[in-house]
Amino acid sequence: MQTQLSNTPNPTARKVRSGPLLEARDVRIYYSTVAGDAKVVDGVDLTIQRDEIFGLAGESGCGKSTLVEGLLRLIKPPGYLKSGSAAFLPDNATDQREAIDLFKVTDREMRQLRWQNIAYVPQGAMNALNPVMRIGDQVVDAILAHTTMPKREAMDRVITQLRMVGLPPQVANQYPHELSGGMKQRVTIASSVSLNPDILIADEPTTALDVNIQRVILQELKEIRERLGLTIIYVSHDMAVHAELADRMGIMYAGEVVEISNTLDIFKRPNHPYTQGLIKSIPRIGGGRERLEGIPGLAPSPLNWPSGCKFHTRCPMAMEICKHRAPRLKEVERGRQVACHLFGE
Ligand code: SF4
Repeated sequence: MQTQLSNTPNPTARKVRSGPLLEARDVRIYYSTVAGDAKVVDGVDLTIQRDEIFGLAGESGCGKSTLVEGLLRLIKPPGYLKSGSAAFLPDNATDQREAIDLFKVTDREMRQLRWQNIAYVPQGAMNALNPVMRIGDQVVDAILAHTTMPKREAMDRVITQLRMVGLPPQVANQYPHELSGGMKQRVTIASSVSLNPDILIADEPTTALDVNIQRVILQELKEIRERLGLTIIYVSHDMAVHAELADRMGIMYAGEVVEISNTLDIFKRPNHPYTQGLIKSIPRIGGGRERLEGIPGLAPSPLNWPSGCKFHTRCPMAMEICKHRAPRLKEVERGRQVACHLFGE
């Protein structure tokens, strides 16, 4: 049975449920090209727990943005969902059996889920604000497109949301060109959570901003999570941002999730050789001068992934088996998963 999609958001609702909010299984998203299918997301298994901030990390081109766009059903041709499932259990569900497979709902149901249940801040969202509309009017339009809320109430909601991200109410009367990059990004975040969603998916929302503004926005995201009881998936290649924000992390390489762990363990004792390489390539403040090791070689092409473990061509610990057999993502400690033959079959 599928949960009835609510049309009336409850701004004061405090999430009380625990357990998984989203369970993605064997997700494959391919792009058709003249040279064959580019297997950009190639068998991802991922569970997002309710009320956590989950950091999705990995080099550019590893498939993390495509994965979240796929979960939101925003992939455009020549991209397509090859296979997989994405069970989403909204906060207003009362039973696990009410989980919604995001890949099976109709387009209309998916449009309703986006905004109301699943908020999304895509890359470059702050540059997509309408330049000839006041901020308040554009957010009100978006709210009215998804609810039957009276216009006056919608504007009050906008003011509340702006305050929540530290912006004064006057911003509602301003145009995008009157705001700094940091203010515009805070507007997009405030706007995206204006219907009190269950989850916010934010893709590199602070990349174009200076570090001071970046820090302010990360702090505000933490506060929004606390205030709204929000689950957040934060997508970024920037490991320092994840260290600051994420409760747990998933590391992607070549279209797969190769390690999942709490953030502290990812940084203190990473298991996967690729994660170890990522950590070693982060410059440290203090101490003497040292050469950053980095990860040798180039990321492979999704048109022709290496056989076996896709990291074997760059892995300093590769063994013979790695060339032929792909490792499964498996639990190696409580709450820690890794896909690597060093941890057994
Ligand atoms: Fe390296 Fe082998 Fe582990 Fe892949 S499976 S990360 S090649 S040791």
